[in-house]
Amino acid sequence: MSDIMGKTVIITGASSGLGEATARMLADKGARLMLAARREDRLKTLTDSINAAGGEASYQVADVTDRNAMQALADQTRETYGRIDVLIANAGLMQLAPLDKLKVDEWDAMIDINIKGVLYGLAAVLPTMREQQSGHIINLSSVAGHTVFPGAAVYSATKYAVKALSEGIRQESNGEIRATNISPGAVETELTDHITDPGAQEAANELYSVAIGSDAIARAITYAIEQPGDVDVNELIIRPTQQQ
Ligand code: NDP
Repeated sequence: MSDIMGKTVIITGASSGLGEATARMLADKGARLMLAARREDRLKTLTDSINAAGGEASYQVADVTDRNAMQALADQTRETYGRIDVLIANAGLMQLAPLDKLKVDEWDAMIDINIKGVLYGLAAVLPTMREQQSGHIINLSSVAGHTVFPGAAVYSATKYAVKALSEGIRQESNGEIRATNISPGAVETELTDHITDPGAQEAANELYSVAIGSDAIARAITYAIEQPGDVDVNELIIRPTQQQ
């Protein structure tokens, strides 16, 4: 029996990309899933497809920037499955542009989703994990959380923050809570669809010409979860082989 079998896993941003691929992989390995995002039609289709294939999934519409919605998501997970073993804080937004473009609304949105969203998820599940004396927080940072490139200053800042939070959770885990920081390079998803700056879009198209599939990241997340309880995979960086 894998160490994933029967674990209760919340995935934010499960309606597309890495979240969806991870949901499918963990369901195949016997996890009990609570899938969250804003687009209900996508969540419903994914949940139905997992359950039809013999997996176990439920969904709840939740905006990660809404603290009450995140608490309701955690409460619903406990009500449905009785416990919360893993939170995959995956929901994220990348809107690249040079700072001079002053896309302040985009800065706000990235800070709200990528940083506050991770914190609200943490706040919602931490008391339960403390009560259980076990839990696992998996945060989606990025290669951009390790290095900065032109046009990505604010996105990078949010992903550096995610890395800091992952490390903080690890240091304060009291030997009860595992913390994993996942840092993907270019992966083919809907992430680049939200870029509004033409120059940044062009640079992203170039970078993403070598993008790999979401399954690569799903495998990394699966690896971290399936380790024995006394093993905490703290950090994984996964780049396309062809990415600089
Ligand atoms: P997608 O754009 O495909 O997925 C993003 C997900 O986040 C969607 O499911 C979206 O769902 C959800 N989301 C966005 N805003 C909110 C919100 N306010 N509340 C709840 N859910 C929200 O991109 P990826 O799958 O690529 O991104 C997943 C994570 O991986 C992100 O954190 C991203 O920064 C990170 N990452 C991705 C890389 C890549 O190259 N793809 C590289 C490095 C890191 P909905 O719109 O339905 O709410």
